[in-house]
Amino acid sequence: MTPPTLYIIATPIGNLEDMTYRAVRILGEVDLIAAEDTRHSLKLLNHFGISKPLTSYFDHNQQIKGERILHALRQGKSVALISDAGTPCISDPGYQLVRDAVAEGIPVVPLPGACAAITALSASGLPTDTFTFAGFPPSRQGKRRTFLSGMSALPGTLVLYEAPHRLADTLTDIRELLGERQVIVARELTKMFEECIRGSVSEVIDAVSHGIVRGEVVLLIAPGADVPPEHESLEHVLDRLMADGTLSIKDVAKQAAVISGVSRSEAYSEALRLKNNTDCA
Ligand code: SAM
Repeated sequence: MTPPTLYIIATPIGNLEDMTYRAVRILGEVDLIAAEDTRHSLKLLNHFGISKPLTSYFDHNQQIKGERILHALRQGKSVALISDAGTPCISDPGYQLVRDAVAEGIPVVPLPGACAAITALSASGLPTDTFTFAGFPPSRQGKRRTFLSGMSALPGTLVLYEAPHRLADTLTDIRELLGERQVIVARELTKMFEECIRGSVSEVIDAVSHGIVRGEVVLLIAPGADVPPEHESLEHVLDRLMADGTLSIKDVAKQAAVISGVSRSEAYSEALRLKNNTDCA
């Protein structure tokens, strides 16, 4: 008999034909489906003839719902987690639930499938051997600029999610802070109006400034010509981000962890140590 399992199931990012056979089978077998938006997911489930108890699990109820889902798993039930589109936990809820299930020794089984970042990267023509996925840039300009300058020395391709109405502003900041790199705006992937807008940052700014960019967008940025091949040291990155003065210690640690390739907890302890040293000096 299969032990109670938490399944992390990727769903299509636009084209229902990208649903996998295995995802349909497991969703039809579990006792409970936790979905970011139950009404949205109901359409997907109805399309595939799946009828199962549904519960919501989204950013603002993660704590309480996470506990209930763990309770169901402890009682021997199997649970599937899905998000509105793509892979749960990737700029979507799920990380805390997976972390807690792992801590309790509950089996967590991922079902691979669509993910906008990887889909865009695969067709980008940009280097794929090393890349950094950093989710959505902050919406406020000051924080966004700090976030982008923190990425300037990263090796490999940079992959971001961005809201269409912020695209032109983000590209303008990229040109200023990362230089005139090649970029790609991968829009509406797998859907009817799928397109990839390619060019230098200035060319793409020009292209997206002529009309309103609609739909969902992945932004890919080619590596800079002068980016050092190795990660910047943790201490150096922390110094640079803390000197900026606009970020909390938590945000500094989060970004520093991505940039220097260490865990968030290591970055956080080191940031606290540096802060204490500065405060005592
Ligand atoms: N977990 C999802 C995944 O695995 O791709 C991402 C969820 S995140 C909340 C949603 C963002 O993903 C969108 O704002 C957009 O940046 C990107 N995205 C999702 N679907 C897309 C598509 N069909 N084409 C381009 N970008 C897409």
